[in-house]
Amino acid sequence: MELQDPITVLRGVGPKKAEALAKLHIETLEDLLLTLPREYQDRRAVSRIAELAAGQRTTVIARVERITENYIRSARKQMLRILVSDDTGALGILFFHAHFLKRAFRVGEWYAFYGTVSQGRQGLQMVHPQFSSAEEREEGILPIYPLTKGITQRDMRSWQKQAMPLYEKAEEYLPAEVVARCRLTDPASALGSMHFPEDRQKYLEGKFRMIFDELFLLQTGLMAVRAAGTKGEGIAFDPAADPAPYIRTLPFPLTAAQKRVLEEIKKDLISPKIMNRLVQGDVGSGKTAVAEAAMYMAVRSGYQAVLMAPTEILARQHYDGISAAFAVHGIRTGFLTGSMRGAEKRQVLQDLEDGQIQILIGTHAVIQPDVSFARLGLVITDEQHRFGVDQRIRLREKGMDPNVLVMTATPIPRTLAAVLYADLDISVIDEMPPGRTPVRTRCLQEKERETAYRHAEQEMAAGRQVYVVTPLIDTSESLEVRSAQETAEELQQRFDGHSGHGAYRVALLHGAMKQEEKDRIMEAFASGDIDLLVSTVVIEVGINVPNATVMIIEDAQRFGLAQMHQLRGRVGRGSHPSVCYLVLRGDSEIAASRGAIMESTTNGFVIAEEDLKLRGPGDLFGTRQHGLPALAVADLARHGEVLQKAREEARMVIEEDPGLDRPEHRKLRARVSRMFSGGFTLDL
Ligand code: ADP
Ligand code: MG
Repeated sequence: MELQDPITVLRGVGPKKAEALAKLHIETLEDLLLTLPREYQDRRAVSRIAELAAGQRTTVIARVERITENYIRSARKQMLRILVSDDTGALGILFFHAHFLKRAFRVGEWYAFYGTVSQGRQGLQMVHPQFSSAEEREEGILPIYPLTKGITQRDMRSWQKQAMPLYEKAEEYLPAEVVARCRLTDPASALGSMHFPEDRQKYLEGKFRMIFDELFLLQTGLMAVRAAGTKGEGIAFDPAADPAPYIRTLPFPLTAAQKRVLEEIKKDLISPKIMNRLVQGDVGSGKTAVAEAAMYMAVRSGYQAVLMAPTEILARQHYDGISAAFAVHGIRTGFLTGSMRGAEKRQVLQDLEDGQIQILIGTHAVIQPDVSFARLGLVITDEQHRFGVDQRIRLREKGMDPNVLVMTATPIPRTLAAVLYADLDISVIDEMPPGRTPVRTRCLQEKERETAYRHAEQEMAAGRQVYVVTPLIDTSESLEVRSAQETAEELQQRFDGHSGHGAYRVALLHGAMKQEEKDRIMEAFASGDIDLLVSTVVIEVGINVPNATVMIIEDAQRFGLAQMHQLRGRVGRGSHPSVCYLVLRGDSEIAASRGAIMESTTNGFVIAEEDLKLRGPGDLFGTRQHGLPALAVADLARHGEVLQKAREEARMVIEEDPGLDRPEHRKLRARVSRMFSGGFTLDL
């Protein structure tokens, strides 16, 4: 048996079960072992009936005395009542709407019942207990696994037991000091204790080890990346290449926060140490101006700079703004995206290689193998949560060892930022440019939608513009949600001066459209030729149309806090007061609390903290959205203490051996690289 063997090598897993398991993302034995119990049932204690008390959760072994079927008219309930006894007393076992269970019991036979004892009218009882014949009783601490249709707990336990011999192969890969300092149990017993714990202590030890492993590998990997980036001599920019002349040509003075962050960047840039810095700043905080100033420094030091955006729309918008701003200084900019072809593209590549283009702006096309720079000195990625660590590394490999600046508007709590960006120094723009009125936010029930549209109409009458965002493109996906298409048609009927009765121009934008089409619409909206834009979340990132003052989010219950915050950031970018409406369908409690949070604050960091709390246990704080490996067992929101330990240990290891080159780190290094190529593995 090997970890990568298909699950079908196990007894009892045929094609049908394998298909069901695939729904749980279990295809190999390793997948199975990494599917950890979501809870446990303690079946060690068996109680005698005379000792039972209401509220107790326990196992009783008893003989069936009598089976009666009743129909409770008042409650319209079908009830199966089974009277059982041991030699100390009698107990009622109740099942509702389950008369078929009658056939599962035979009078005079012994059964094991596991459940919660409660006080009934006729004495103590258990309602809907789990049961089996007394001989087949499952003992000990039972793991409860996530299931899907066609798979039972018994199946899962039997398969996990069959796969147990694989544990034996688990080798220690952590440095001995780490194991000793953190008092870690060995990997084999850790896994064993997660699936079949002998007792609570063993379980806790196992769990700690599994979570520690995952977080330690993540941290070690990120720190190794950082160490590789800061190793040796990088590019030092010319201290005389000050950004001041550029800043003087901006139409506004920088905020104190922008100045502070720019100073931090400047210090990095003029030192020979390679910069690896993250700039975190809420939507609208003015990250672009800071990035521009850094690019200006690169050019004045004789280097090229590249700015990479996650979408064509955003790249184009950056290009338009930045090329105009730099033209004033006689600096040449270029634009490159994936959809570019032929002569146009060849020219850009040529000019880049010759150093004619000093600043390149584009999508991830700028890091493709066919792109080469004359003297790349600075790489900036905007909205980095769309880019993975590997892409960052690839980018870095483009130049000699360029400085890297990463900008993100995804606010994350400080503790998490330290984890997710362990490979970066962090600067925070924690201040908004003056003169902005914060966006007012209002939750509406579906039937109150009209309020939002009436307000939208008023704003359009005053010359402002409106965004309407829906979660889906077309209705086919779900009947429960308004689609962009449907919404656009309706609003065209209502407002559109061309196709409908109104005096406004309504357009639709969605992700499945051709790039040119999207660009055309976005440009028309930016230049004010469209009054109301219905769109899917393609407008989420970075789009800047200061004249837009109303954001209506349809089916807001379908969006997460972070996403709504991003969307809301599209309005309130000019001098006019803006409003964001969240139209909620249904009565989901979590949607309501998200709405309340959105109403109460516009501070991205507060929202991020709340988001973390709301996600609750078991729901992983997405590492994947930050371009990092997904976590299988650790939960960043809940395992803060383990995380702290893992960070300390990782730091010590990397300080001593930044490249993990020492022989004793060979296994660790292999595990780290597997983590970053394919996610957390057991690698026994
Ligand atoms: P983000 O951080 O979301 O990328 P932008 O860089 O797009 O924000 O800036 C948002 C808007 O604020 C832009 O219109 C920009 O010109 C303006 N802006 C940036 N910095 C300042 C400032 N210091 N004072 C006034 N307006 C500013
Ligand atoms: Mg931006």
